[in-house]
Amino acid sequence: MEIINRMEQEMQALKSAGNLRTLPPLLHESKNIIVKGKTMLNLSSNDYLGLSTNMELKERFLKDITPERFFPTSSSSRLLTGNFSIYDELEQTLAKLFGTEEALIFNSGYHANTGILPAVSDAQTLILADKLVHASLIDGIRLSSAHCIRYRHNDMGQVERLVHENHLAYREIIIVTESIFSMNGDAANLNALVKLKYQYDNVLLYVDEAHAFGVRGANGLGYAEEENCIHDIDFLVGTFGKAIASVGAFVVCKRIIKAYLVNRMRTFIFTTALPPLNIAWTLFIVEQLKEWQSQREHLKLISKELKAALILKGYKCPSISHIIPMIVGANEATILQAEALQQHGFYALPVRPPTVPAGTSRIRFSLMAALSADEINQLIQSIQ
Ligand SMILES: *Cc1c(COP(=O)(O)O)cnc(C)c1O
Repeated sequence: MEIINRMEQEMQALKSAGNLRTLPPLLHESKNIIVKGKTMLNLSSNDYLGLSTNMELKERFLKDITPERFFPTSSSSRLLTGNFSIYDELEQTLAKLFGTEEALIFNSGYHANTGILPAVSDAQTLILADKLVHASLIDGIRLSSAHCIRYRHNDMGQVERLVHENHLAYREIIIVTESIFSMNGDAANLNALVKLKYQYDNVLLYVDEAHAFGVRGANGLGYAEEENCIHDIDFLVGTFGKAIASVGAFVVCKRIIKAYLVNRMRTFIFTTALPPLNIAWTLFIVEQLKEWQSQREHLKLISKELKAALILKGYKCPSISHIIPMIVGANEATILQAEALQQHGFYALPVRPPTVPAGTSRIRFSLMAALSADEINQLIQSIQ
């Protein structure tokens, strides 16, 4: 069959180019990962606070779970019979923590980012999106009927120009960015974006805090908390699958926006809500979020050490966070470095084009607070 032939040819081409992806068989053992019998320190995890392996935490949570209180499914969309009270509890908790009117929970960050923009925009909307935003945001933009312009990464001059040139031609402009970027570990200039937004009356801000929620800010609420601009962001999205060691996502927003999304957002309406069990775990974690400041401080410390060491060794590294790219440049050299690190027992993964721009292939370290200063020092010794 034609289609099968085409698939085989494409996969063969990927394989020849060294780009074929397969699912790696992995075992997990605390902060280590075991691949083909080799135990390696996991330096590619999104478990930023190290909560997913915290046994004391799990034991405390499980103490309250009895068969009567064990709900592994919601059996429905929240608009039908799936709206267990634990959802409202989590949403109220989030809204209270952020000091916003409302919060709304989604099944994943992917659901959030592919659902919100198509719901709130139409052909009279212009979306300005940073060149490096996550694929889920790109897909959300594609699903919308808005016009979109991608601006050069963090190029505030270009954003300002684009807003100035276009604000009269559109009903509204939505600026879309991540706060901490997933490949560079650098940050958006949130305060400059906020300042720009307030110069116009039809500009809104959409900020994806997937890598910052739980990790940044005095209460772990994210980079917007740190930059003191939570209330200036119209759609502040966070996820639970990374630092929160759970699953799902949320937006904190105005009451009218939540009401609108509940009525218009297809990835919210047409899907079975997450199991109440997962929501209960998320709530359990989120309620304690502010108490993990020492983990956040430690993460900051080891991140600074690794970045400084990379720069001393001559690597470029734009990071200001726990996501630390070691930009090698050429594909082959990057893969060799990754292999060498894995030989030394460090599970770090190479990232190549098209995920990153050509000529900027890199090892992407993604640190967690469970790593010790000693382990980071051993890593630094192993880097060529
Ligand atoms: C991980 C990630 C998402 C997707 O979140 P999931 O809950 O894993 O679907 C969205 N945006 C960014 C920036 C991410 O890093």
